[in-house]
Amino acid sequence: MKFSVFEVLKAASEQFSAANIDNPRLDAEILLAHVLKWRRLRLYVDSDKILPLESVLRFNQLVNRRLEGFPVAYLTGSKDFMGLTFAVNENVLIPRPDTEILAEGVGKYLRGLGREVIFADLGAGSGAICISILKFVQSARAAAVDISNEALEVAKFNAIKFHVEDRAEFFCGDLFAPLEGKTFNAIVSNPPYIPTCELDALQAEVRREPRLALDGGADGLNFYRRIISDAPRFLTAGGLLAVEVGINQAQAVKTLAEAAGFVDIQIFKDLAGIERVVAAGI
Ligand code: GLN
Repeated sequence: MKFSVFEVLKAASEQFSAANIDNPRLDAEILLAHVLKWRRLRLYVDSDKILPLESVLRFNQLVNRRLEGFPVAYLTGSKDFMGLTFAVNENVLIPRPDTEILAEGVGKYLRGLGREVIFADLGAGSGAICISILKFVQSARAAAVDISNEALEVAKFNAIKFHVEDRAEFFCGDLFAPLEGKTFNAIVSNPPYIPTCELDALQAEVRREPRLALDGGADGLNFYRRIISDAPRFLTAGGLLAVEVGINQAQAVKTLAEAAGFVDIQIFKDLAGIERVVAAGI
């Protein structure tokens, strides 16, 4: 049997559709491009090309793992964020497009300060947020904190990949614990924010991601309470706190920030129109 690019993509997309996978064709293309080490565009240009049997077998293995619920990004070991291809594995949350407005907003704010600046990223995970900020703000340095050593290994790998390792320091610990005595121009975080009782109902692929990166406690707001009450001590005068929030959490987080003395509190929506980022000054 001989299989062309077109045929294997069609077969995989059909299997994914039947399994109710969200983006069947896209997932099939990303996996095949990964196996062949091609850009996705080439799948169209060379769609008649007959594939070597070993590539077909390797692709089928990945298709089967996808059908078992593994996210595409864990199968390819990479995910694009802010135009950069980050390495990811099962120890880190997969960067989401929704989070780009957080990175972009804080990046613009820091660049606007027009001088050497330092910011902290709490729960840095793969490093997608802090590394993309460092990449776009040459005058910035970052302290990246994560409670998971395995996650920090991924973040360090990405910092080296994008040549910002000399401007990033990595700390293993719980939120501000390893930063005692330091102050920052900005604090950024995409903390775990899913209410515990909702975790089991998440999509199969999200349930493959680290619980540690998702579980926000009973109402999902635990990490915001802790971050917001400690942040004033770790911000320089006029500093910025910016956090990603889950659906319907923005107002509650705004209220927490007001109670802690923050001012100029702003809420930003993501591309789907959902309130996604809360930013506050001190
Ligand atoms: N955005 C993720 C989701 O909806 C959650 C990330 C988080 O808890 N910070 O699955």
